[in-house]
Amino acid sequence: MVGDVGVGSDHPVSVQSMTTTKTADVNATLQQIAELTASGCQIVRVAVPDTDDAEALPVIARKSQIPVIADIHFQPRYVFAAIDAGCAAVRVNPGNIKKFDDKVGEIARAAKGAGIPIRIGVNAGSLDKRLLAKYGKATPEALVESALWECSLFEEHDFRDIKISVKHNDPVVMVRAYELLAAQCEYPLHLGVTEAGPAFQGTIKSAVAFGALLSQGIGDTIRVSLSAPPAEEVKVGNQILESLNLRQRGLEIVSCPSCGRAQVDVYKLADEVTAGLEGMEVPLRVAVMGCVVNGPGEAREADLGVASGNGKGQIFVKGEVVKTVPESQIVETLIEEAMRIAGEQVDDGVASGPPVVTVS
Ligand code: SF4
Repeated sequence: MVGDVGVGSDHPVSVQSMTTTKTADVNATLQQIAELTASGCQIVRVAVPDTDDAEALPVIARKSQIPVIADIHFQPRYVFAAIDAGCAAVRVNPGNIKKFDDKVGEIARAAKGAGIPIRIGVNAGSLDKRLLAKYGKATPEALVESALWECSLFEEHDFRDIKISVKHNDPVVMVRAYELLAAQCEYPLHLGVTEAGPAFQGTIKSAVAFGALLSQGIGDTIRVSLSAPPAEEVKVGNQILESLNLRQRGLEIVSCPSCGRAQVDVYKLADEVTAGLEGMEVPLRVAVMGCVVNGPGEAREADLGVASGNGKGQIFVKGEVVKTVPESQIVETLIEEAMRIAGEQVDDGVASGPPVVTVS
């Protein structure tokens, strides 16, 4: 357990992110945690580079709505401060904590006393020098050996409440590392492509790597690392899990790429429908199709859809044409119907809470 979030075994895969504020700035950090929570983040990590940051942990751990993991580099004493502060877990990077191996016994006792797990977070950029010398670079084997070596030190002290990550910026290396790790241990695994890049590139790298691993049943928590606001990471993480059917899908827009047969501006229509339904929190598949060739087929398969042509849109609900409207009324009609279907889902108990829709 990381706080009240189950990790590993049959627990659903959870989404993590990390704050970008100075942790010592308690208000800013709590504000960002609240934003992350609202965007669907389930576990949050905060950096603890200085004494001021360590001192802020008790308040942050107490007031955060989601479990807080303290991320410790360099100074082992902050591990103990984080445990005393009531953090839900501590992440240590053995490659860059001074004399870490000598401290493992003490850390294991403190964590066991507090009943919290430790994440051993091995990172390609800060791999243990001994393994770097042995393998020449951060190979999958080197990452795995580093992680399992540290686990063995904790195991010597009868501590097994461990989660592991072996992050690398190259999805191919990262996937191989996690595959090797999963074959050699039963600890829960936290997935991440580290330093994945700006939003577009990082999203693709993370989706490819997580998809490859999660579809094999490897991975228990995920963090999408983007050079972008952390709420974006959470959005991408949730979307990856939905795409893999590892959590219930929310709003899904099925829109065609358009082609020479299109009789409407599909991009504009898809954007307007997406914007109009933004914030809808019930599972709903909406098809936006540009013509009457493939359009009706796709629109029929969705909960709601439109097939456009000749300045009109045929509106489908659950496979039936319910009405035909002029092109100018397609977006508003889809939003109205979406609201109605979402309301029915709530009444039927398929979804919880009222549908929330903002009309652009
Ligand atoms: S639905 Fe029609 S317009 Fe859209 S890609 Fe298919 S054939 Fe082209």
